[in-house]
Amino acid sequence: MKALWGAIYMGTLGVLVTAAGCGVNPNRPAAALPFGVMADAQYAQKPPAMGRHYAESLAALQRCVNDFNQSPPAFVIQLGDFIDGGPNAEKELRQAVAVYKTLPMPHYHLLGNHDFAGLDRDRTMRILGLEQAWYGFDAGDWRFVVLDTQDLAVEGGWDENSERYRQSAQMLERLKAAGAPNAKEYNGGFSDLQLAWLDVELADAEAQGRPVIVFGHLPLMPLDDAHIAWNAEQAVAILEKYDCVKAYFCGHRHGGGYTLHNGIHYVTIEAMVDAADAGGAWARVKLMPDEIIIEGAGAVTSRTLAIR
Ligand SMILES: [Zn+2]
Repeated sequence: MKALWGAIYMGTLGVLVTAAGCGVNPNRPAAALPFGVMADAQYAQKPPAMGRHYAESLAALQRCVNDFNQSPPAFVIQLGDFIDGGPNAEKELRQAVAVYKTLPMPHYHLLGNHDFAGLDRDRTMRILGLEQAWYGFDAGDWRFVVLDTQDLAVEGGWDENSERYRQSAQMLERLKAAGAPNAKEYNGGFSDLQLAWLDVELADAEAQGRPVIVFGHLPLMPLDDAHIAWNAEQAVAILEKYDCVKAYFCGHRHGGGYTLHNGIHYVTIEAMVDAADAGGAWARVKLMPDEIIIEGAGAVTSRTLAIR
């Protein structure tokens, strides 16, 4: 069976095949689907520091793009912190986008805290070509849900005089007062509006029998970690309402990570900016009928995860 699915994935069979038992197991994919993923390029023209080779990320990104061009996945997504930010943030973001946009297949962005270091929200989104900070799309049998973990954040590109910024700062102060390990300026969280949208988007996928992969910049697990979203627990509670949710992919924690929690795989992709010695960091993820196969390149860990 594995070999058959492999053959379908490689495109050597020109027929549409549906998985046996698909009707028995709702929200299980009927055909294999590959996508490409990378995180935390943090490109900047400046000297290395703390093991981060900022300037080398542009070449690493080009190698990543070349690799995806050789054997094109259905789409590619970068998980935020495309740049490190600073005085040349706009120029550097345009340079990174110019490399990324040479991908011929659909390629998506999401927002990370560093993407606003030196740029306001509107400008960052305009350069990335993002019309919405959070959105969903379908590919093959799957639904993909893209979150904005800087929706409430002091590193979210919000004007410091805005109600949104004030609300974000208050949330951070509450977490600090409570001694929460993730009470950090470099994290952020979800507005009630985004969480309500997430709930509706997942309910719709569940009703359609579509399995779901969710993407965001900040990790949501483990819940005692310093790098997770401020209100990760609220987001996780919504993800766990739906059997259709299979995995959450994120960046931000540069060393990567993995947690399985109530049937959902939480995968943190290792940072490209830390991976100079490994030649970069990206992965080809093959969504199979019964498992998710992560084929890591460079510093990214390869994993095979059973779909519930
Ligand atoms: Zn980050």
